[in-house]
Amino acid sequence: MDRLDVSDGFDVHDYRHGLKLLKQDRGTMTLENRQGFACPACGDAFERLFVSENRTNTFGNPGSPFCLVRTDDQLLVLTH
Ligand SMILES: [Zn+2]
Repeated sequence: MDRLDVSDGFDVHDYRHGLKLLKQDRGTMTLENRQGFACPACGDAFERLFVSENRTNTFGNPGSPFCLVRTDDQLLVLTH
């Protein structure tokens, strides 16, 4: 199981083959994990990945456990 490498930031193009883009907005995108990639925080496979370059983000009830990952420019939210 490949773990997302975020040591130098997250680049979706490195994982394009296994992450399906569900939604894209100004500064954010939501991706579905089609390849069983592992979460960089906990090591378990995640379901969805939200990537944001915005300074603030608001969420509804995630309804499931989630992990947060921070890079220099992005916030990653991974739901399990
Ligand atoms: Zn996790």
